[in-house]
Amino acid sequence: MNATFVELKERLHEIWDLNKIGWLLGWDQSTMMPKRGSAARGEHLATIARLSHQRFTSDEIGSLLSQLESYEASLPPESDDASLIRVARDDWQKIRKVPSELAAEIARAGAAGYQAWTKAREENDFAAFLPYLESMIELKRRYVACFPDVAEPYDALLDDYERGLTAAEVTAVFDQVRDAIVPLVKHVTANADKVDDSPLRGSFPAEQQLQLAMSVIPRWGFDPLSWRLDPTVHPFASSISTQDIRITTRYDEAYLGTSFFGTLHEMGHGLYEHGISPALERTLLCRGVSLSVHESQSRMWENLVGRSRPFWTFAHPLAADVFPDHFANVNADAVWRAANKMGPSLIRVEADELTYSLHIILRFEIEQSLFNGDLKASDLPEVWNAKMRDYLGIDVPNDSAGVLQDVHWSEGLLGYFPTYALGTIIASQIWERILVDLPDIDRQMAAGEFDALRGWLVEHLHRHGRKFTPKETIARIAGGTITPEPYVRYLTAKVTELYGAPPVTR
Ligand code: ZN
Repeated sequence: MNATFVELKERLHEIWDLNKIGWLLGWDQSTMMPKRGSAARGEHLATIARLSHQRFTSDEIGSLLSQLESYEASLPPESDDASLIRVARDDWQKIRKVPSELAAEIARAGAAGYQAWTKAREENDFAAFLPYLESMIELKRRYVACFPDVAEPYDALLDDYERGLTAAEVTAVFDQVRDAIVPLVKHVTANADKVDDSPLRGSFPAEQQLQLAMSVIPRWGFDPLSWRLDPTVHPFASSISTQDIRITTRYDEAYLGTSFFGTLHEMGHGLYEHGISPALERTLLCRGVSLSVHESQSRMWENLVGRSRPFWTFAHPLAADVFPDHFANVNADAVWRAANKMGPSLIRVEADELTYSLHIILRFEIEQSLFNGDLKASDLPEVWNAKMRDYLGIDVPNDSAGVLQDVHWSEGLLGYFPTYALGTIIASQIWERILVDLPDIDRQMAAGEFDALRGWLVEHLHRHGRKFTPKETIARIAGGTITPEPYVRYLTAKVTELYGAPPVTR
């Protein structure tokens, strides 16, 4: 083997290990760590992040990468080695464009912003948060300036989460989705009484909720030798390695849906990381290719599987075993309907499958205007509330339930939101292909058989990790670019089934 490549790989392994140690510390902080450990933990995480950043941005990595140009050219582009060199070079060139002082300043502003946001949200005080937001936006403008080639400023922000995608491409997709969904929301609002979610409400002790989850997810591949499920406040999935996947959940003892569907969602993220080829372990190819594609996996398992009728044929008897009194007089169809109750609401993380994307589109439009100079941060509450009225037909009673509800902006995660909705859209595109390749999928799900579906996803998506770009990956698995039609078809069919046919709009 090429000695220079061996050296590069050893360095990348070391950096990867540092990052994964950081992830493990982060998982521990959110699940196990005693509260007073947080100050020291912040230092531990900062040290790990600094070491990893220094090692990766070093001149030595750059020099190894240029020495490897002819070796790379001698390999098939899809080989593991050529892919690693290519992706490492892309990452290295990108990170070198941002001065480390600016990166550090953004990290510090994010920590201060998070503190300020927590307090401002609690006290419903947007004005107190505004200066932090303004200085974050200013820092992010400096960040954008590091990428002079972008067509518009927002492209540089989006690229951090969805490499290569532009705001113009997102706008084209979101405009169609918004125009299709807004009338559906009106229809659902006018027919709200057609769907009753009381079958999922009542008294559900956390211990039994865990028992129910553990009767479902082992069928999806959750194996205690490779996985953990633990409670936390803000659920997430974290992969320490492909054989060490940590998922988390939050129990609401009055509503079964929070933890149940949340666990299915995180399971979808976990399955993606678990399915990456072992040959890519400990390299920067060993992760999901982008946030949108990652979210396509979580949304698919949560919604296209977990909120489908066939799934509840399988899961209803399991729920009735765990909660015999509650489900004695509730049939599978009633649970399926309850799991799909839709309607406008104020809070994004509680939104249903239909309205969720509108929450995202609103945020995307606002973020884009902030960076195009059409919108000042001080005007955010007013614009937010107006869009909530236009898209969802509801009035925002206060900023805590409005513009202050999400943590993202406080930490500098600008450009992140679109990936949530894009993932949902991609999931529907993939699902249409699965229906062709696995025509028997409904029968399988009703019988609690998920191996063929998992196998399909590993074969077509999971095993490749980051070998291909996000756009190439989406083309391979969905047959083209991101298109909203399958998602709109899916939502329209579901709304029609549950709420009756929507009036035809022209
Ligand atoms: Zn997710």
